[in-house]
Amino acid sequence: MRGRTLAAHDMRYAALADAYERLEATTKRLEMTDVLVALLRVVPREQIDRVVYLTQGRVFPDYAGIELGLAEKLAIRGIALATGRPDAEITSLWKASGDLGAVAEAELAKRTQTTLSSEPLTVARVYENLKEIATAAGTGSQERKLRLFADLLNDASPREARYIARTVVGKMRLGVADMTIVDALAATFATKEERDRVERAYNVSSDLGEVAKALAAEGLAGLAGIRLRLGRPLRSMLAERLETLEEILERLGTAALEYKYDGLRVQAHVGRDGIELFSRQLERITGQFPEIVDALRTAVPGREAILEGEAVPVDANTGEFLPFQEVSRRRGRKTDVERMAREFPVSLFAFDCLLLDGEDLTTRPYADRRKTLEGLVRETDGVRLATVRTTADPREAEAFFDKALQAGCEGLMAKSLTSTYEAGARGFQWIKFKREYSAALSDTIDLVAVGAFAGRGKRAGTYGALLMAAYDARADVFRTTCKLGTGFSDEVLFGLPERFKDLLVPHAHARVDATLTPDVWFEPRLVLEVRGAEITVSPVHTCARDAVRPGAGLAVRFPRFTGRWRDDKRAEDATTQDELLAMYRGQQKAVRGEPGSAARPEGRSQDR
Ligand code: AMP
Repeated sequence: MRGRTLAAHDMRYAALADAYERLEATTKRLEMTDVLVALLRVVPREQIDRVVYLTQGRVFPDYAGIELGLAEKLAIRGIALATGRPDAEITSLWKASGDLGAVAEAELAKRTQTTLSSEPLTVARVYENLKEIATAAGTGSQERKLRLFADLLNDASPREARYIARTVVGKMRLGVADMTIVDALAATFATKEERDRVERAYNVSSDLGEVAKALAAEGLAGLAGIRLRLGRPLRSMLAERLETLEEILERLGTAALEYKYDGLRVQAHVGRDGIELFSRQLERITGQFPEIVDALRTAVPGREAILEGEAVPVDANTGEFLPFQEVSRRRGRKTDVERMAREFPVSLFAFDCLLLDGEDLTTRPYADRRKTLEGLVRETDGVRLATVRTTADPREAEAFFDKALQAGCEGLMAKSLTSTYEAGARGFQWIKFKREYSAALSDTIDLVAVGAFAGRGKRAGTYGALLMAAYDARADVFRTTCKLGTGFSDEVLFGLPERFKDLLVPHAHARVDATLTPDVWFEPRLVLEVRGAEITVSPVHTCARDAVRPGAGLAVRFPRFTGRWRDDKRAEDATTQDELLAMYRGQQKAVRGEPGSAARPEGRSQDR
């Protein structure tokens, strides 16, 4: 044992560099696992978490949100300092190869005199320096980071320098998947059959370093201590997909059908002292969503909980969902977030509760968790519960699916009532059923403004949205098809009351057919050019009512003003309801991939 303790202080970084070189030389998962097992076997247990993080190219687990990412310019200076070469030379070498690791290695190899005082690098020293580089802040921190890096290079072999330089700029990229490390940990400290338990510990902690430490200390028994904890995200449960609701219900029996919102998945850790938000990839996104943090304070007062939900931008003026792109712009921003949050605030639609006041709920059935969630959340505009319907009847499910689409959702998420929350796993406990692929509307349409809703917040004093209609030529009537609140410059927006003042009428114009009641009505005269994402069926709009489905009309989804007033058009020259109906049918054809239609699968472009 004594030897081991001594070794704890002795592990050489060279052993890691050696393993890394081997890992780089293969793309085969099994070979990678073997290399990792060989490494893990000789790592002193006190250092195993550090070795795991270093192998992942980091110094802390992902979720800590502390990244190693020394600016390249600074890293170049560090290499120049350690090798005595001019900055410009290092810079041009770096530009040629794009790999600072290779540059550091090559330059260190040219170093003729080895410093007498040079000491072999240990894991402890490399880790401590890197940790300081990752966390140093404030005045003088750049200089300090530079020195810490150069200090490592001074004592590094060329090969060690390759990996240190890559790590420091956040580009280790050995190609080792987290699950390969799980394989290796299982092979080192347990049996093949017990691998699942290792993976589960990783799924609830998202921290391979901690899993490794527990295994090294106590073997499998050590994993019992790894539990769900506030402030540390668990890996998200994922859904399978089936093509029909019948298949889904056949598989699940009576199931909970939830609206599938099209936004960003958020894991909210609500503590008494603070709130943290994590993305599906477990990045810390708290700073990007101040409005969710505020809303959660009111919605979950005085309790400690981990909630999951989907964040979706809602137009305060129309009450409708906005395309998620409006929010994507916040990504990576440090400034302006508050303003963006006011402009396009998101609401959180909560769909699960995973921890409550210290108690892990993931092992409880869905039905229990939902009940807990309903008892816990005080709904506000900012935090709502995902709409749910429990049924075994495919016809009822179809009708509910239609409602979800009409509400602006992507489809449904069907959940087994008895399923536990399987962190990190994709299975048939959750099955998604999405709106079929639809062709995006490629043409703009011209719609007539028939009314307007008073603006709120930033838009107080003007209109928040216009009520827009298409023309029914047969009846010579204008029938509504959307609320238009996007695409206006401030100047146009605040000029709206003036522009419409001569068209105001005290009630719905005789030639206007609407079920919605705006705050003001207009004589149908002004035509605006609008671009929409697609045409959907809607219970609130009167355009082509009953043509597709009894009681429902057609709506333009995500309408946006192009900025062009069609003053050249009379209201009667606007897009007709028959044209919209034809567009809707064309879309449906595209869905089925029939000829003559430009099918363009919509799909989600990114794994949000
Ligand atoms: P997909 O991204 O198409 O694989 O669908 C899974 C995603 O749907 C999840 O990661 C969530 O972001 C999102 N989602 C929206 N509504 C729900 C819901 N009610 N339950 C679970 N996930 C949902």
